[in-house]
Amino acid sequence: MIMALWIDPAGNLQHDQAQNLVVTCPHCQAVAHITPTAVPRFADLQAHKPKQVGIVYLCDACHAPIFLRFMVRIYGATRIELSSQFTEVERAREKFAFTYVPEQVELMFKEALVCFSAGAFNAFTSMCRRTAQAAFDELGASGKLRLFDELNHLRQLAALTPETFLKLKSILFGAETDPRPGLPLLDSYDAGVVLEVVKELLYEAFVRKGKLKQAMSVRRYFLDETATNIEPLVRSGTSDEI
Ligand SMILES: [Zn+2]
Repeated sequence: MIMALWIDPAGNLQHDQAQNLVVTCPHCQAVAHITPTAVPRFADLQAHKPKQVGIVYLCDACHAPIFLRFMVRIYGATRIELSSQFTEVERAREKFAFTYVPEQVELMFKEALVCFSAGAFNAFTSMCRRTAQAAFDELGASGKLRLFDELNHLRQLAALTPETFLKLKSILFGAETDPRPGLPLLDSYDAGVVLEVVKELLYEAFVRKGKLKQAMSVRRYFLDETATNIEPLVRSGTSDEI
């Protein structure tokens, strides 16, 4: 079925599938229905006949603006037909909770996430290698070995294909001195796998340990608090008072 989408002379967007229009909101990250809120004027479009038209929508979940760009199919006298395919001008950003991750590693992986969100998957690959190198600097040789074991573990856990595993190994554990072609080329699927694996490795290397340490010190704090609170009660309490 071909979806019909057009702007009428009154400047209204007519869309027979409007109720099914859903995107991942770049602001609240929800997969949400969106509602058109600003449509270009019919007369302006007819006067200039641009090849592409931008429409601002509101995210139904958080009410932030979302900008979509459509190709124009036909400039008709009473309707401007748009292609049903659209470009999301602002894509949802990939996120990672960086608490407990060392500064240099955070710096590299943040840029890796920006590259991924922009669909620049080979730039993403390069930044993943720099992320790994920064992590190895922090962890030392034994930490690097531990992460390699962890990668092997993930290989079984996620049933990675031998090809994907080799790419991951080359990206994360390879060096600039490796024989060419060095870093492998990634498509969007490979890049998604690499992203999830690097997140797991960073979590394993830094976040899990940091969280555990934090939880332990909170436990110790409450234990100390309880001990000091009990003490005066014992000292001042009399047996006939409750
Ligand atoms: Zn939203």
